[in-house]
Amino acid sequence: MQVCEIFYSIQGEGQEIGQPAIFLRLQGCNLHCKFCDTAYSQEINQKKEMTIMEILKKIKEFPAKHIVLTGGEPLLQQKELIPLLKKLKNYFIEVETNGTIKPIISQYINKFNCSPKLSNAIKLKIKYDSLKFFPKEKTIYKFVVNDKKDITEIKKFIKENTIDKNKVFLMPQGKTTEEVMEKSKSLIEICKKEVFGFAPRLHIMIWNNQKKI
Ligand code: SF4
Repeated sequence: MQVCEIFYSIQGEGQEIGQPAIFLRLQGCNLHCKFCDTAYSQEINQKKEMTIMEILKKIKEFPAKHIVLTGGEPLLQQKELIPLLKKLKNYFIEVETNGTIKPIISQYINKFNCSPKLSNAIKLKIKYDSLKFFPKEKTIYKFVVNDKKDITEIKKFIKENTIDKNKVFLMPQGKTTEEVMEKSKSLIEICKKEVFGFAPRLHIMIWNNQKKI
């Protein structure tokens, strides 16, 4: 499997925010977003091949029973992930995905954190037909908001894809602590008005995106 990095930190986003978790970041992505904060994980790199046993050994070094599968786009390697997931049945497993790939591993996953990309991040018109295959009871949606113009697009998106508004969280765009903190204030007011959840981005707020989280 193409692995970018494995590290131990706390979940920085979404409903499980603050939970100690092992991050298995897989290499390779099918998108190239403007605001990508892990651009180093986008390209496939053969030098980062790891076997299931090597990954498992690394995971067992950490005390938590919570794994965040992230990327890149981790569902690009979901077939290869199945033997690993079968060995991790006593772990709580979250997947961070852009939502463009139909999941075939839902039975092994506790939570999908889907982050569809808006026109503020990518110019291509992306088809999100795959979203209907994500199990509703296990899936939440996170949107990165750059400015308030994005809200109209988000509302249109959730209507077109019949997404439950209660499952939607808005996150501030920003690559520095200052930028994220500043945008958070106005975004919280938008969340209150539109009744969306607000999701902070702890790794940027605390460590300025310099430290792994
Ligand atoms: S989908 Fe995620 S990992 Fe891929 S380019 Fe976009 S932000 Fe980066």
